[in-house]
Amino acid sequence: MKTIVILGAGYAGLRAAKKLVHAKLDARIVLVNKNPYHYEATQLHQVAAGTKEPEDITFDIRDVEPQKVEVLIDEVTEIDRAAHKVLLKDHEPLAYDYLLNALGFESETFGIKGAEENGWPLVDVDTALAARRRLESMLARYNTSHDENDLHIVVCGAGFTSIEYLGELVWRLPRLVKEYGLPEEKIRIDCIEAAPKILPMFEPKLAQWAVKYLEGHGVNFHVSTPITEVKPDAVVSNGTEYKANTVIWATGVRGSEVIAKSGYDQKRNRVIVKDDLSVEGNPNEFLIGDVSAVPNPAADGRPYPGTGQISIVQADCAAANVVARIKGKPTKKFVYKSLGTVCSLGPHCGIAELDAFGHMKLKGAVVQILKKIVNDRSVLEMTDIKTMLESN
Ligand code: NAD
Repeated sequence: MKTIVILGAGYAGLRAAKKLVHAKLDARIVLVNKNPYHYEATQLHQVAAGTKEPEDITFDIRDVEPQKVEVLIDEVTEIDRAAHKVLLKDHEPLAYDYLLNALGFESETFGIKGAEENGWPLVDVDTALAARRRLESMLARYNTSHDENDLHIVVCGAGFTSIEYLGELVWRLPRLVKEYGLPEEKIRIDCIEAAPKILPMFEPKLAQWAVKYLEGHGVNFHVSTPITEVKPDAVVSNGTEYKANTVIWATGVRGSEVIAKSGYDQKRNRVIVKDDLSVEGNPNEFLIGDVSAVPNPAADGRPYPGTGQISIVQADCAAANVVARIKGKPTKKFVYKSLGTVCSLGPHCGIAELDAFGHMKLKGAVVQILKKIVNDRSVLEMTDIKTMLESN
């Protein structure tokens, strides 16, 4: 019997597991994940801002198709690709015939001095919770320290993660101010972005609306301001210091470090895959989600940005191609059409551009209804109706 090993239980890995189970193959399917739970990466910013709890955005992967998928909780340290074995921290090496590598992302610091030591990334449940504790403890400390830096927050980068975090933050801060009895006028939020534009993937008017919304709630944006250093109490850009004792680090992501360790030809731990999502020279190995870079023909071959939406479509294609390989049939090409982009701005607001029924632009409270539909749909795509209902 052939063994299919899936690495990672994020959007891509879980969806691939579900698809392979439904293919009813005579094969052993093993899903390896560091934690016994899946987390909704698109909601980490809410845990970090304290508007959601970890249990609101996680579910147990052992409940998903428990009779048909062997779940192995362990950390992948390396892939011995020549021997077709996955090396694990606490278990013996795991041999595979087919590999679906969906090991996901890590925080990218670009080697900026002090970023790793002094920045608080939002890349998993633990880091999101740690960022939240940092913020809350600095605010609480102000009452005894009277250090105004305790009331200053710098958010590094103005990509999706930062903007969605800022939306939650400006909603929660007034509540924290009240709870801790803090001087509201002394709270300061700076968001520092290297690029000249914020939310360039949105139509300019919509992006501007989001920026104005956040500015109206106290966020100071600094564009064309590349961060060059992070100190324990300040973010530095070419000599200018932005003082803060809470520094949220969200300047982008790279793929899992296992990629570089396993000898792939990679850039920022992402591997350019073939058009059927397999790896050059290794037809039984597929990379999906944030460890893969899929050239987008409509963008001169530049890779698609990593999102939950694309990970799920990749998983469908890669799972179908594993089935094809096992049955000796030709594999199919990955085809992707984005359904649109949603960016929340706190629990009751957001902006969105939809391409599902013609091109639609939305802003305000209606986007939260859409966001909920998108979240429910992604849970359903990975699991079943029971898990989806329980996740609400
Ligand atoms: P990102 O790459 O989208 O944004 C990072 C931002 O940081 C960029 O604007 C970049 O210019 C800036 N930056 C980089 N280096 C900098 C520096 N030295 N100084 C100042 N600014 C700097 O990263 P992200 O927001 O963490 O998102 C990661 C991935 O997840 C992206 O592919 C994103 O599209 C996806 N995502 C999507 C959603 C959504 O669809 N709602 C939500 C969250 C994340």
